[in-house]
Amino acid sequence: MSIAARPNFDVERLRQALKGQLFTPEDDGYDDAHRLFTPVYDGVRPAAVAQVADASDIATVLTIARETGVELAIRSGGHSAAGHSTTDGGIVVDLRSLKTLEIDVDAMTAWADSGLTAAEYSNETNAVGLATGLGDTGSVGLGGITLGGGIGFLVRKHGMTIDSLLAAEVVTADGQVVRTDEESHPDLFWAIRGGGGNFGVATKFQLRLEELDRIVGGMMVLPATVDTIVGFIAEAEQAHEELSTIANVMSCPPLPFVPEELHGSLVIMALVAWCGDIDEGQKVADRFRQLAQPIADMVQEMPYPEIYGPEDEEYRPLAVARTLWADTFDSATAETILGYLEDSDAPMRVAQLRVLGGAMARVPNDATAFAHRDRKMMINVASFYEGPDDRQRRETWVSDFAKSLGNGDLTGYVGFLADEGQDRVRAAYPGGTWDRLRRVKAQYDADNLFRLNQNIPPE
Ligand SMILES: Cc1cc2nc3c(=O)[nH]c(=O)nc-3n(C[C@H](O)[C@H](O)[C@H](O)COP(=O)(O)OP(=O)(O)OC[C@H]3O[C@@H](n4cnc5c(N)ncnc54)[C@H](O)[C@@H]3O)c2cc1C
Repeated sequence: MSIAARPNFDVERLRQALKGQLFTPEDDGYDDAHRLFTPVYDGVRPAAVAQVADASDIATVLTIARETGVELAIRSGGHSAAGHSTTDGGIVVDLRSLKTLEIDVDAMTAWADSGLTAAEYSNETNAVGLATGLGDTGSVGLGGITLGGGIGFLVRKHGMTIDSLLAAEVVTADGQVVRTDEESHPDLFWAIRGGGGNFGVATKFQLRLEELDRIVGGMMVLPATVDTIVGFIAEAEQAHEELSTIANVMSCPPLPFVPEELHGSLVIMALVAWCGDIDEGQKVADRFRQLAQPIADMVQEMPYPEIYGPEDEEYRPLAVARTLWADTFDSATAETILGYLEDSDAPMRVAQLRVLGGAMARVPNDATAFAHRDRKMMINVASFYEGPDDRQRRETWVSDFAKSLGNGDLTGYVGFLADEGQDRVRAAYPGGTWDRLRRVKAQYDADNLFRLNQNIPPE
């Protein structure tokens, strides 16, 4: 928004109408209020950020957006790689002040506000020995990860986050507060499980909890060779579904616990999480240790939320990435990965390999709007870049890398999509999923009020 441009709605009236707080560019705290996880969108300037206090605050903002056409962005944890949770000149509905969590220990369920982060949710539920599977990063918002699907450390044992979703409260485009579950607004309930923020603002989720206090988990760093990569994937596939893994094949960052001469060399920086019997988990971890002498090994018994580790809010690298699904993995795949990583001189480059299956794959593809249940692996290739000068080069590298791994398959995970064009959004919803999503969109948001997202146009 240019400095001279004025919003076409009455900012002060909105401020008065809200129970929560409103930040405009003139207000202290505005910079923090509109900042996302990635620095790419720091220059995007919303006219106002509404830190809403409840569903009626949200409805107030939606009314203004409907009446004036001002662009609307919905923000939970702010991790959108596409910058969809901010807007140039529009209003951001910021859910971060909604953080209530009501745990029903006997029923093993929780009502969780969508402004909670994965770490906040997991720390609180761990205090009563319970957990729900979210993603791999503590600062990711419950709002975005749940609506996109949620693939994390419990995915093989307990499925995706949406497989634990029992109900949700959603403020729809017309300002109605709707409770949705299998019986009430079932189409909406189907659509929000993978269809992102297209259908309304989710204020809270009812999630199933699992008994889980401690895991065997943490980081293990192994040298990356064709044999160790193929061996890692084979072990991860064969292991009981109590095990979920994330293998980052990457140039080794300058970590204090890695000998200096190995900084920059190619390693498997693996995160493993075993959510079953502790002794059994130690034996499973040993199988990975036998692939090669670990360069670093922090896999141990720990409280489940410790898998998230500390995060530095000021560490905000620039990155480009592509996500894809894969069904086979062999030496040729590992050679391709090592070849691409060796050929790049980016300060950081990575192929992240997640073996899937288990509970996630037992849900039929058409049961939710996430329709890739039968894929064996998710791969995410990424490269850091330094600025506009090398961005295009890194972008081409990730795109070529992904193409050579995916054999032309365009489909990816909507949660990891950046601003990659409508073809990629379309491909994220294969089969009849796309058409059904468009019908539900027409029913709940015919005017596409919620369009700053991986957008599904109304039928
Ligand atoms: C470092 C990092 C690690 C990640 N790791 C994983 C992982 O392990 N597994 C995984 O599955 N995903 C992962 N993701 C992807 C992540 O789940 C998505 O980017 C998710 O959309 C982020 O949610 P958010 O609330 O933090 O983001 P936001 O930027 O706040 O929102 C993302 C999108 O969801 C919409 N939205 C958010 N909340 C709501 C709401 N309550 N109602 C309606 N719309 C809403 C926004 O408008 C936007 O379009 C990761 C992303 C990053 C950046």
